[in-house]
Amino acid sequence: MQCEYCGEAWTFTKEEQQFWYDTCGFHVQSYPTGCSLCRRQVRARKDAQKELMKLLAQLDPNDPEQLARAGELSLLNGNVNRALQFLRRAKNMSSEPQALIQRIEQIQREGSPPVPMRSSRAGRKILNDSPAKRSP
Ligand SMILES: [Zn+2]
Repeated sequence: MQCEYCGEAWTFTKEEQQFWYDTCGFHVQSYPTGCSLCRRQVRARKDAQKELMKLLAQLDPNDPEQLARAGELSLLNGNVNRALQFLRRAKNMSSEPQALIQRIEQIQREGSPPVPMRSSRAGRKILNDSPAKRSP
């Protein structure tokens, strides 16, 4: 099968099929759209988003640990600028900011981790059909 995210060919192994159909309970005719690596990244991104929402709902703006965590989660979501904002605030609140300073420098060098994007025609079709794309 071909991954819809990275375009690489991949194999839907017996073990994975078992997990997919038995553990997740998907319909027998459904199948994953991406290779296991891309699917894992997509899942991690979704989890990070969920955790970030939860964290922001009760964020203590004076707690450097919470601010740093919010920064890391923003980064997992692909939002580098927001991640740096949180980490800088965490650094300003922290009594030992050295690790945070290094982390900020590292993110500025490397940017966000790769974000899997669907590259197939299906992805473009969704964009074209989107009402937001219509001109006013
Ligand atoms: Zn892939």
